[in-house]
Amino acid sequence: MTGKKGAKKLKIVLFTGYACNNNCVFCIDADKRALPQKSTAELLRETVRARNRGAYILEIIGGESTIRPDFNRVVAAAKKLGVPQVSCATNGRVFADPAAAKKIVASGIDSIIFSVHGPNARVHDALTRAPGSFAQLKRGLENLRALGFTRIGGNTTVVKRNMAALPALARFYLKHGINNVEYIFVDPTYGGAKNNFGKLVPRISEAAPYMRAALALGRAAGMDQWKARYVPLCHFGDCLGQISETNERKLFLTEHWAPDFRNTDAIGSRAAVSRQKTARCRGCKLYGACEGIWAEYLKVYGDRELKRMK
Ligand code: SF4
Repeated sequence: MTGKKGAKKLKIVLFTGYACNNNCVFCIDADKRALPQKSTAELLRETVRARNRGAYILEIIGGESTIRPDFNRVVAAAKKLGVPQVSCATNGRVFADPAAAKKIVASGIDSIIFSVHGPNARVHDALTRAPGSFAQLKRGLENLRALGFTRIGGNTTVVKRNMAALPALARFYLKHGINNVEYIFVDPTYGGAKNNFGKLVPRISEAAPYMRAALALGRAAGMDQWKARYVPLCHFGDCLGQISETNERKLFLTEHWAPDFRNTDAIGSRAAVSRQKTARCRGCKLYGACEGIWAEYLKVYGDRELKRMK
């Protein structure tokens, strides 16, 4: 196995299905909960296929993949096949149970990305609509530390309700020593944020200062892998080295294997279909590097906030 496709590494995002024990208000999968879950046999077949395609990273996601009884089996199968990096994105609740945390670590998983949407239960649980979910993810982080598992990342979906809390959330990540964090400007293309756009989606000019403040706190603490995702670059001029898309375009080819679709160029199709630059971008010095902003965003707020960079 090469682990590479050309000069870039191949990352396969394996969706197990859309069932979840949280009910996040902005979830992109909000309208897909009832779709059938993949079977264990299907997932095991896909781990073989991923290895054969030369996947360097296999990221297992849901919904919430850790609530499946076969989660550890799928991780262990991928590791046994020799996939170099197996990770999962999770709401973190299952790790509150020390025995479950121990079994997942023993499966051989390489890294775990916690979705944290606020610095406290008030903000986080209001967004997940799952009372107790923040306390559980916090216990989960502590349990993983106690097991000596340190390859933990974080991701935060930025919406109106939590944007002012991002600096406090940055301090939460710092306290837990999380070196790999993404602050993700909410995607209104489908699901919860599309259905409740006005309530959830902030203007980029209002969200960006909080996102940059969070990134600055990370930089000051030596966190070199804290990034912003899905943002127009003109609002991030002082942290252009901390943009997820710029980084991932250089390093990865990404495929999405979901129950209801397969996308063999998730990075390229996002830039070509879901995000847009406008006439205001003409002549911008960052035009080539920038993906613009969500097309759905432009339909509602227009492009007045985009600022050609000279
Ligand atoms: S003006 Fe357009 S191309 Fe330039 S940084 Fe802003 S969104 Fe990107």
